[in-house]
This record gives sequence, structure tokens and C-alpha cells, in this order.
Amino acid sequence: MASNLKKYIRTIPDFPHAGIQFRDITTLFNNSKGLRETVDQMADAMAIHNFDQVAGLEARGFMLGAALAYRLELGFTMIRKKGKLPGKTISQDYNLEYGEATLEIHDDAIESGQKVLLFDDLIATGGTAEAGINLIERLGGKVEMAAFIIDLPELGGRKKIESLGIPTYVLCEFDGL
Ligand code: AMP
Repeated sequence: MASNLKKYIRTIPDFPHAGIQFRDITTLFNNSKGLRETVDQMADAMAIHNFDQVAGLEARGFMLGAALAYRLELGFTMIRKKGKLPGKTISQDYNLEYGEATLEIHDDAIESGQKVLLFDDLIATGGTAEAGINLIERLGGKVEMAAFIIDLPELGGRKKIESLGIPTYVLCEFDGL
């Protein structure tokens, strides 16, 4: 695991709520070396797979997700928060580590049978990723793998996604909530 990236990630205590240690990737992305290493490490690890499409979760999953799709020479699908996508969508409600929300995808974004790499910056409880997986699978896509920069193992999200039969890949882990 590429724990050398951890030094670029800032921790903000009690954001957005008391008790949450917010793992802030703005400092990772601000740093030219940090950004390049993150994209390169993730793209190198994913290059052996044979995906048809990368799907990213709003909003922090878009930045590296799009860079990954570029490196893998694939298209990129945006899974967005409710009300943001202009075309016909399907939606999925889910529980967050802090609160509830709805995600949407354009109903023509994924073709039936396409092999999809799902990407987000961080996995905590896995609720967001699971909602993204549901949306892709409802369109007939197959989530071949889920990838994240950061895993918070104590929140069990990675285990949850793996229990759905989807392998997960992470670049680094942080203890605690
Ligand atoms: P979850 O659905 O619980 O796996 O939460 C994952 C989503 O919430 C991701 O989109 C993260 O960006 C965000 N998130 C949850 N917990 C944190 C945290 N401690 N630090 C930064 N982002 C977080």
C-alpha cells in the first residue's frame, strides 16, 4: 500500500461534525508531486484490468476519476447528487457517515454489460459506494472493482463492498473515524 501519499493529506478535526476526522485531499491535490503520484499509482494499479468505463462519485471522485479515465483511455461517467444531471436519470437513496442523500446517474451513461471501475476519494461506511454500485447495476453495468485513495477500515466500508463480491483497491488507510 502506497502510504507515502499520507503525508500530503491534511486532517481537519470536527469537520463537518464533532467527532469526525475529516481527511482533506485538497492538500494532496494542491501538491504537484502528490497529485502526480496519486494519479500514477492508481492508474498503474488499474492498468492490468480490462474496464470499459470509469464512474466517479461527486464531487471529489470526479477529479482523480477523470484523470484515471484519461490514463486508461476510457470514458468517464459522473454519478451526481440529486438534481444536478440535466438528462433523464435514475436515483438511489443512501445513508452517509453523517446524514442521508440521493445519488443519480443518466439512464444512458452505461451500456448493458459494460465493465465499470467505480472511483471515489475515500471509503468510510461504504454507503455512498454501495449506492453508486446499485445505480450502475440497475443500468445493466457490472462493477468490476471499486477504488479509493483513502480507506477508513474502522468504518467497515471496504469489507461491505467486498462482501458484495466487488474487489476494492485503496492507496492508503487512516485509523479512527
Ligand atoms: P461513506 O458513504 O460513509 O463511505 O462516506 C464516503 C463519502 O463521504 C466520500 O464521498 C467521502 O468523500 C466522504 N467522507 C466520509 N467520511 C469522511 C472523512 N472522515 N473525511 C473525508 N471525507 C469523508
